[in-house]
Amino acid sequence: MPGHVIGVDIGTTATKAVVFDMRGRVVAHRAVGYPLSTPVPGAAVQDPDAIHRAVIAAIGAAVHDAQVAPDDVACVAFSAAMHSVIAVADDGTALTPSITWADNRAARWAERIRSDGDGMAIYRRTGTPIHPMSPLVKLAWLKDEDPRTFAAAARFIGIKEYVFKRLFDRYIVDHSIASATGLFNLEKLDWDEGALAAAGVTRERLSTLVPTTCHVEGLDPQVAAELGLDAATPFVIGANDGALSNVGVDAIQPGDVAVTIGTSGAMRTVVRRPMTDPAGRTFCYALLDEHWVIGGPVNNGGIIFRWVRDEIAASECETAKRLGIDPYEVLTRIAERVSPGSEGLIFHPYLAGERAPLWNPDLRGSFFGLAMHHRKEHMIRAVLEGVIYNLYSILPAMEEKIGRVKTIKATGGFARSELWRQMMADVFDREVIVPESFESSCLGAAVLGLYALGYVDSLRVISHMVGATHRHTPIASNVAVYSQLLPIFLSIPSKLEDEYRKIARFQRNER
Ligand code: ADP
Repeated sequence: MPGHVIGVDIGTTATKAVVFDMRGRVVAHRAVGYPLSTPVPGAAVQDPDAIHRAVIAAIGAAVHDAQVAPDDVACVAFSAAMHSVIAVADDGTALTPSITWADNRAARWAERIRSDGDGMAIYRRTGTPIHPMSPLVKLAWLKDEDPRTFAAAARFIGIKEYVFKRLFDRYIVDHSIASATGLFNLEKLDWDEGALAAAGVTRERLSTLVPTTCHVEGLDPQVAAELGLDAATPFVIGANDGALSNVGVDAIQPGDVAVTIGTSGAMRTVVRRPMTDPAGRTFCYALLDEHWVIGGPVNNGGIIFRWVRDEIAASECETAKRLGIDPYEVLTRIAERVSPGSEGLIFHPYLAGERAPLWNPDLRGSFFGLAMHHRKEHMIRAVLEGVIYNLYSILPAMEEKIGRVKTIKATGGFARSELWRQMMADVFDREVIVPESFESSCLGAAVLGLYALGYVDSLRVISHMVGATHRHTPIASNVAVYSQLLPIFLSIPSKLEDEYRKIARFQRNER
């Protein structure tokens, strides 16, 4: 039995490769970054060849650092960001950059498919909300925007497919990445004819669907040498980064909910069969037989605290930097001076529009309830609370399907703050556990890889690999305060729909 397994996550800012031992302990890790560019407003694109090179470089460097023998690696298993689209020519060269999840140029097409097409019916079959992030919507947009490239493309693929094509000369896509394209029928485990028609493509122009456990062997000997691996090392295609993150933080048992607040944020849970939401609030993505991930992504996570740091509290932060203290620490301490509920100040953090649960790009931020007694520290605390209220707003859609959630597994940069973690326990009125997570999508991929190759008989082995670093139980007096403010926070957006639309149009100069 080999002694190591490698998990690779092809992310939006970097590709990370982690060499684990068979008990999930990190032996070596490397990240190789690349830019996300905005050549025109609304675009968020990347060079797929730079990403392919980063994958090779990250694996090669991690294997080198780990000093493992080439034949001592059970497999290399992959996680990747969802929703990317690359048009490729007959010979496999890219005709477009990788159009990422963050690209917003297809917004008008999302509205159109939602309002006059059978958007809701497509969502119910495919599990992907009709949104500019969705490859279905991007393809409809590309066909209209750049018909020549659209016609010239032999295939439309995602970034993981591009890398596998380069490595093994095969176009394959796992059910998990496919289930985030908006083109994949969750019940049939096949491309959805109605969705393909809405996107304007045929199945011949997409990759061959394979289960997430599919593995490929036969690396080019030169590439194998560059990676420091045996050419026969199996490469497991794996799943999408969100689904694998749930595996990596040990949130795969019924009722376990994972909440991440990094730059953006998400709430996810694993269910036994595909489930969509009558109100269209949640996504549903494939992971493995009898493992489906439902949940919601939010745009307005830690990035909002970063905005406070840079735009509201610049002077405090300058001082912090001079003293060598992390500015977030300073801001958190300032927020601590204010009692829970910020003395009746509520912040809606919709600075970047919002995805789940409202899926409205026109939402905008606001302070509600400002009064003369509020000072800057109230505003800082209200922002931290607003980010948590926003994530909480996804919970009802989840609990309608899985029943009352008992425990939240919380991860991401926000978890460095004790105040913010306790706030989550108090707002959610649930126990919050911070798992010992390091590159959870890489660990999730590694565990899926071990399962795919028969080294373990269930993903549940993860529970022996991940411990907890912090636990927070709700404080009753704080819960009582938040339970009065939450209904106010939740009821405002639906009352202001018209005003949000008008102000967003004004900001876009559509007067
Ligand atoms: P990414 O999503 O890019 O992986 P992280 O998970 O590191 O990023 O999260 C970054 C966010 O975490 C920051 O924008 C900030 O909101 C939050 N954060 C980072 N450090 C702290 C801290 N010490 N206290 C509170 N929040 C923090």
